Amino acid sequence: MKKGNGLCDVCKGAQPIYRQVYSGVSFCDSCFKKSVEKRVRKTISRYSLLREDDRILVAVSGGKDSLSLLKILAKIEKTYPRASLVAVSIDEGIPGYRDEALRLAADMCRRLGVEHRVYTFEDLFGVGLTEAMSRGILSRLGLGACSLCGVWRRKAISLAARELKATVVATAHTLDDIVQTYLMDILRGEFPKAPIGLRREGNGIIPRVAPLRLIPEEEVVLYAYLSRVPFQETPCPNAQNSQRDLVRTFLAQFESRYPGSLFAALKTIESRIVPREEALTPCQVCGEPASKTICRACELESQVSRLSGEMGQLVRANIGVDDV
Ligand code: SF4
Repeated sequence: MKKGNGLCDVCKGAQPIYRQVYSGVSFCDSCFKKSVEKRVRKTISRYSLLREDDRILVAVSGGKDSLSLLKILAKIEKTYPRASLVAVSIDEGIPGYRDEALRLAADMCRRLGVEHRVYTFEDLFGVGLTEAMSRGILSRLGLGACSLCGVWRRKAISLAARELKATVVATAHTLDDIVQTYLMDILRGEFPKAPIGLRREGNGIIPRVAPLRLIPEEEVVLYAYLSRVPFQETPCPNAQNSQRDLVRTFLAQFESRYPGSLFAALKTIESRIVPREEALTPCQVCGEPASKTICRACELESQVSRLSGEMGQLVRANIGVDDV
């Protein structure tokens, strides 16, 4: 393709608004959006992520990635009459942060005609995240906010998927998210055990797929802006200083200096992953497939609930409630 005439390299007629540094191609507004949608379709077909009769649960946080994914999947779903979509948002109980995201998610679902359901930590696990932090429960467990939140969010999505009879869960993990996770595993001394976001059946698990796995984060942001997808721009107050935040900053700087590094890392790491069939058995508490007798989410739920009870007793003793 001859490039550099000052016009979009795809349609050759409009002014470019974005240059894809790793490929050298410049796109106009319309060709860029079409290119993202086309690449998502190709990713779905290349890895057989979705089936024609799937009931797809889309995990929607209200951020740019998940709302863009929902918009793209709603377009694709129209061409598959036997498939259906349901959007699920998880409210972790972070006042002042999640409320706006939930409103944006609900608005987008209404516009697209997609059913939207919200599940809360409070209902599912008995306590919201900020409350667990402010009561000192997380610090006593030696956990950061994201450690509890990540495990419970995953569990909440699985419970929602069962309740809503979803056959697959689509998450909005981008290329950046996936490489970050692989790198975090490696930095903790573990090589990734399975590729992220590829459809794996069996073991009673509802498969999770990531149709944006080959789209860089900055392109998802641009897609959201150009497609006029209103999304929450404020980051979670707990995101700063998390392990992921450090890795994200490093990878973003590296990619900006050496374009194409994220694709190279994904390809190299995934070519060396040897997926192992984990022997999973139903968790003795909730029945979800687990690698131990009790799944991590239930384990944490019981620890949080015990500490919550102990701290309640302590408060009551200090103010003399039990003596009244
Ligand atoms: Fe939860 Fe951490 Fe994400 Fe905030 S940044 S929503 S605490 S996982």
